[in-house]
Amino acid sequence: MDAGRPLMRRLIVLALAACTAACAAACSAPGHEALRAEARSSWFTVHALDRATAERVLSECEALAPSVLSGPTSGAPTSIEIFCVPVAANYGEGRNLTVGDPEGRRLRCIEIDIGRDLAWERFVIAHELAHAWLAPEWNPLPQILEEGLADLAGERADPQAGVCRRLFHGLRLVTWAGIGWPYQIERNGKQELGMLRMGRAESGLPTLAAMLELDGTSYHDVGGEQNENLLYAVGYALAEQIGVPKLRELCARALAEGLPQIPADWVLDAAQLTRESGSLWALSGQRLIGEPEERMLQQCLRDEGPFRFGKE
Ligand SMILES: [Zn+2]
Repeated sequence: MDAGRPLMRRLIVLALAACTAACAAACSAPGHEALRAEARSSWFTVHALDRATAERVLSECEALAPSVLSGPTSGAPTSIEIFCVPVAANYGEGRNLTVGDPEGRRLRCIEIDIGRDLAWERFVIAHELAHAWLAPEWNPLPQILEEGLADLAGERADPQAGVCRRLFHGLRLVTWAGIGWPYQIERNGKQELGMLRMGRAESGLPTLAAMLELDGTSYHDVGGEQNENLLYAVGYALAEQIGVPKLRELCARALAEGLPQIPADWVLDAAQLTRESGSLWALSGQRLIGEPEERMLQQCLRDEGPFRFGKE
C-alpha cells in the first residue's frame, strides 16, 4: 500500500515580490479582492468570502493566541491581517506572506486556506501564528527547524490534528529510511498485512546537512512536493529530538558570532549526527508513531479516521 499522495498539504512561506509604496498598507495577493467580509478585534483583522467564516476564523485566532504566545519561541504579538482563501479540499494550507528578503521576516499578512476540516484549520492557524510571532532571537534557526517548532505550536492548539501530523511525519521518515511502517488490519473478515509507505523521495532531495542549510528563500525549491513534505518531517523530528533549550542556545551562539543562520554542523552535533548520517537516521522517525498515532492509523486505514489514504 502506498500512500504517496500528500494528505497534509504543505504549509509554505511565500515571498511576495517587493511591493510599491502604493500597496504598502495592504496585503494584496491574487484572490484577496473577493474576500470582502471582515471581522476584527485585538490583534486580528480577518478577511473572508462571508461573514460567518470571518467570524469563525477570528474566534479561532483569539482562542489560539494565548497558547501560541506562551510557546517557547514567541515574541510580542503584533497586529496581523488574515485572509481566508476558500479551497475545494479537506485540508488547506497556510502561508505567511512576507515582503522583501524572507530572512528579514517582514510579515505582510497570513493566508489560511478554508478547507472542510476544522481541527486541521486550527492547527494551521497556530502554525502560522507561531511563524508570525517568532521572537527575533530565534531568527538564526534553520527554516526546517522553525517549521518543526511551528508544528509543535499547531499540536498544542489541536492535539487531534497534531496526532495526524506526527503520524504522517513518522510514516514519511521511515519511508525515506527505505523501510516503511508495517500494518495489520481486518477488512471484510480478512486479515490484511502490509507495509505502508508514504511520500517516496523525489530526485533533487537535499542531503540532511543541505536541508539544514536551506533558508526561507530556498526552502521550497527541493525537487518536488514529496521532498518538501519530507523536509517538514525531518525538521519536526530534529527539533523535537534536540529540544527547545538547546536550540535556543544555538541561536544565541550564532547571533553572538554574527552568523545569519546556525551552521548545519552545529545542529548535526546537537542531534549526535554527522554529515554521513543520511537517510538511515530517519528510521528514528518510528518513535513519532506511538499509541495515539497507531490508533489514528488504524482509523485512517479503516476509512473512519479524519484522514484517508489515497484520497483527500
Ligand atoms: Zn510553516
